[in-house]
Amino acid sequence: MIIPKTINVNEHRIEIIERKFSTKDMGTFSRKDMVIHIDSDLQEDVKAETFLHEIFEVIIRICGIEINHQSLTIMSEMLFSTIRKNNINLLSKY
Ligand SMILES: [Zn+2]
Repeated sequence: MIIPKTINVNEHRIEIIERKFSTKDMGTFSRKDMVIHIDSDLQEDVKAETFLHEIFEVIIRICGIEINHQSLTIMSEMLFSTIRKNNINLLSKY
């Protein structure tokens, strides 16, 4: 997938920057800067899954949802695998 340079989540505009990471993190979201960083060295499918994970991070922070990180990770991984295994195109018209 092509990772966009910006996304809008409700009224928030989020910038997405792909860069090399010096830590073991694959992605981060800074609420202060409204920026998602994604490790540019990730394989394409891992990068897409990380992008989805970081969108979850954005949603829980701007909506003030209390959820532990393990639960968030399971949610994003399961959603990603369901979309992929069923070849779901969310934008197609039936
Ligand atoms: Zn996370």
